[in-house]
Amino acid sequence: MSEDTLRLSFEFFPPKTDEGRAKLAAVRDTLATFEPDFFSVTYGAGGSTRDNTKSLVKQFNDLGTAVAPHLSFGGDDEATMKSLIEEYRDAGVERIVALRGDMPSGVGGSYQLVYANELVAFIRQHFGDSFELEVAAYPEVHPQAKSYDDDVRYLKGKFDAGANNAITQYFFNPDAYFYFMDACAKIGIENPIYPGIMPIINYRNLTRFSDNCGADIPRWLRRRLESFEHDPEALRDFGEEVVTELCETLLEGGAPGLHFYTMNQAEPVANIVRNLGLEEA
Ligand code: FAD
Repeated sequence: MSEDTLRLSFEFFPPKTDEGRAKLAAVRDTLATFEPDFFSVTYGAGGSTRDNTKSLVKQFNDLGTAVAPHLSFGGDDEATMKSLIEEYRDAGVERIVALRGDMPSGVGGSYQLVYANELVAFIRQHFGDSFELEVAAYPEVHPQAKSYDDDVRYLKGKFDAGANNAITQYFFNPDAYFYFMDACAKIGIENPIYPGIMPIINYRNLTRFSDNCGADIPRWLRRRLESFEHDPEALRDFGEEVVTELCETLLEGGAPGLHFYTMNQAEPVANIVRNLGLEEA
């Protein structure tokens, strides 16, 4: 596949402090040189980062790179959601990552999560085709899914409701993605599904995230990473090599592009993108 047609996107989370915001501005500038198709900005469980997400999205949008806010109902009512989406539309945002999200910690009782397919339908109902809609996909199966087939079926439900593309949870085994693509094709999904790529930056954080979101770190990789426990630089070098190879395998196998979970750091992702030859213009 020609490099020109590959879609490239970079995900950030909204920092909580002024220092974090200043650092992220520099990260954004570095990654913007790769001319990505868009940046995306995550949304905390239960809408907990609503204002921070919104202001970062508007700030990035004003700087000229397309930005996609992540969004979930998170306990909000329809009127609140509608006005937030209106604000995004009026600010010139053209893409949304539509999610169910997770239960915020410490909240229970009557709190109801709204499935992503319902959010997609809601946006299409009220905003027509104003937005390109991305949804989440899980090559290694969402942790709460009843079964592999159910999870794929629910992904199809998101496309049937009007989503355009999916971005996957990260994974380190490319076969998980290729098998998943086959399973999706078998039930009639034809929309692009972009692999989500996690750089390997910090072993402890990676294992914690992976346990939470159901991403498998293969034994050989886990053991290798453990051996770099006291050498963070070697861990990063090794991580860049492994993740570059993963991306190469995915692109050679037909993946339509890559979505990077940047963890708000420029260098690890920039190095991988350079290794892949997807250089800035
Ligand atoms: P859904 O697609 O609604 O699926 C949730 C679960 O319910 C699955 O087990 C599925 O099999 C099942 N299901 C789906 N539809 C139905 C239905 N109609 N009826 C019954 N069961 C159904 N989290 C955040 O908090 N903030 C973020 O910004 C964020 N960004 C993400 C970006 C990407 C690319 C990915 C892959 C994940 C992201 N997440 C984020 C994590 C995500 O919110 C969690 O994985 C969440 O648990 C599921 O969200 P979803 O949109 O995939 O849910």
